Amino acid sequence: MANKCPLILVFTIFFNTIIFAQKSVDIDGRLQPLLTDFFAQCDKYGIAYNEKLFQLKTIDILNTLPLSENGSVLGKVVRNSDGEIESIVINWVATLDNEILKIVAFHEFAHHFLDYKHTCEDCNEIMAVQNRSYFDVARDWENQVEQLFITSPAYLSSRQTTSMVSIEYVN
Ligand SMILES: [Zn+2]
Repeated sequence: MANKCPLILVFTIFFNTIIFAQKSVDIDGRLQPLLTDFFAQCDKYGIAYNEKLFQLKTIDILNTLPLSENGSVLGKVVRNSDGEIESIVINWVATLDNEILKIVAFHEFAHHFLDYKHTCEDCNEIMAVQNRSYFDVARDWENQVEQLFITSPAYLSSRQTTSMVSIEYVN
């Protein structure tokens, strides 16, 4: 019996290694606290995120995204050939201001985890293509985040499922 223990231990380590190797997402340390905040909101609104997290390869900050007076890309989601999101990338320039970084990160996280398209071209919402004023969004942050979650496709479809279940129950 005593001889089996090391073997079991070796197998346990081996399988754990495989599981972790398949399910690892590289997350930039500067984005990790924001992702943790975002997931706390997902928990609050009952939105699952684990499966979607492990569909990603990286959540990263890059210095290769376009940067110009008119056409800076502060963040984007990168899709594979099947059109599925495989990475979330943020422009390093967004890290120069914590408020802008938070807004850009939540915008990109919401594309993936909340199934969002853009809400408008140019306005003061987190999901706008371009924010008219990052300052206004930051000043209104709690309300902005609440709106981001309760009007998201992921939240609305989860509520639809819930109400269908309750209709069945009534019948
Ligand atoms: Zn976007």
